[in-house]
Amino acid sequence: MARVELSKVWKKFGPVEVIKGVDLSIDDGEFVVLVGPSGCGKSTLLNIIAGLETLTSGEVRIGDQVVNDVPPRNRNIAMVFQSYALYPTKTVRENITFGMQTRGIAESEQNQAVSGVSQLLHIEQLLDRKPGQLSGGQRQRVAMGRALVRNPDVFLFDEPLSNLDAKLRIEMRTEVKKLHLRLGKTTIYVTHDQIEAMTLASRIAVMDNGHVRQFGTPEEIYENPVDLFVAGFMGSPS
Ligand code: ADP
Ligand code: MG
Repeated sequence: MARVELSKVWKKFGPVEVIKGVDLSIDDGEFVVLVGPSGCGKSTLLNIIAGLETLTSGEVRIGDQVVNDVPPRNRNIAMVFQSYALYPTKTVRENITFGMQTRGIAESEQNQAVSGVSQLLHIEQLLDRKPGQLSGGQRQRVAMGRALVRNPDVFLFDEPLSNLDAKLRIEMRTEVKKLHLRLGKTTIYVTHDQIEAMTLASRIAVMDNGHVRQFGTPEEIYENPVDLFVAGFMGSPS
């Protein structure tokens, strides 16, 4: 498991400052939700942690290591996106094991990992199907399976449920929560949905315009918002 620490993180795209001096200290095993309006910098910040974006200045630590110059594959993280990004021509099983094949892991070990993960996610019956033969919720489970099987120290989620209908979204939210309780892995989860943030988070970072306005437990944020922005954003029904 691992702590994740951001200090004085800035990100510019050309002349435009998108992340403006973010400090965030995430404990081992915590479930932190980054929440805020569209365009406030949530995905950029998550991509910086993942190593998919470089930072303009500042420092990112995962565990004991400063990872600013560490490529994504060496960061001990796994990411689940809103767009499922499954390989359409591969089966569910192949989608899940893809990374393992390229790393030369023995087939018996791959099978064991797949059966563990597919039990956890209730997708045992789907392993021989192709993504086109799955519902949205099933596809999202497979995408999570692919992340889980890597057994990383840190999970990163970018709006993983926002393509699902309301009923399924609530069901999957419960699944995500159960997975976290079961595995206890440090998780950073991006959403623009306040209810999702309140339900899932051990702590919430409320973002606005490249800043983290407040970082606290759901109760702290709800009962003691630091400013009108936080009060308005978290108080309004989604
Ligand atoms: P969020 O995920 O909170 O909706 P993003 O992190 O995607 O926000 O975007 C934050 C801001 O950065 C937006 O104004 C967006 O237009 C801008 N942005 C994101 N990626 C790029 C990029 N590759 N080049 C230029 N601007 C970008
Ligand atoms: Mg985004």
